[in-house]
Amino acid sequence: MLSSSYEGSILTDPNCRLLGGSRKRREPEPSRHQNARAGDFGNEAVAVVRSIAGLSLPKAAIFGNHDAWYTATPWGRKKCPYDRATEDWVQLQMELLGDADVGYSKRDFPQLGLTVIGGRPFSWGGSEWKYEAFYRDRYGVHNFAESLARIKQAVDDAAFDTLIFMGHCGPTGLGDTPESPCGRDWPPIGGDFGDPDLAAAIAYAQQQGKTVPLVTFGHMHHALRHRQDRQRQRLSRDDQGTVYLNAACVPRIVRTAAHCARNFSIVALERRQVQRTLLTWVDQRHAIVSEEDLSADVAPSKSLQALI
Ligand SMILES: [Zn+2]
Repeated sequence: MLSSSYEGSILTDPNCRLLGGSRKRREPEPSRHQNARAGDFGNEAVAVVRSIAGLSLPKAAIFGNHDAWYTATPWGRKKCPYDRATEDWVQLQMELLGDADVGYSKRDFPQLGLTVIGGRPFSWGGSEWKYEAFYRDRYGVHNFAESLARIKQAVDDAAFDTLIFMGHCGPTGLGDTPESPCGRDWPPIGGDFGDPDLAAAIAYAQQQGKTVPLVTFGHMHHALRHRQDRQRQRLSRDDQGTVYLNAACVPRIVRTAAHCARNFSIVALERRQVQRTLLTWVDQRHAIVSEEDLSADVAPSKSLQALI
């Protein structure tokens, strides 16, 4: 992810092989780049997670709600394609990612001089505490306050003062309208669907004097459900200079008879600030077929409200 200070890529594409090919063309110094993945690799798609775990690039990832699709809810468990008495694909995914899994955790990148802080893993988004048994059994967490404490602990444990936050869903405070980065675009339309614990943890880090150049997440798709004349706002910036990137460009892969393109978001950081944010499409030959500068999509500065 990083250029003269560093440049980074936030990837929404599950096909790992593309990453190495596409990046080689422009990145003579791979150790200064970081690969971040915001979850929903598939519905407990163990093979995809195994591929990501095998990437040799520095990487951090957080699981999304689809990564516990057959485990976290009663209706999901009814559709589970494997025997839950003998197998646990959620646990298997977590073991595969190992230290790259930053959910309720952090990963230090000494070569980059920064730490990636993970928000609440497997988030569905919104201000209602969901998956009670799942979080209790897997993490010993019972509510938003305990969830926030876990993320704050990761901030306190970070080796560096420059922090990048990763959530599956973005923080509360970016959902003013259905078209906002975390705005609810399904009935009943409207309302902030961000994670309140993530917002409070970011505020905590900023209050501690940490530099937070970037918060990145997915979950809330760019394509809006309630209108087709525009897409979701992808980028926002708060009054402390922190950039918030919604990287959920779905579909991740667009295929035609002769063409297959996958999208990646690329963030360039210099002097501990975001300099450039691109949405890039790469074809099957690992050639860049289009790039969109997302900087024009930045919302006016505002402060996130810590709700916890
Ligand atoms: Zn999701």
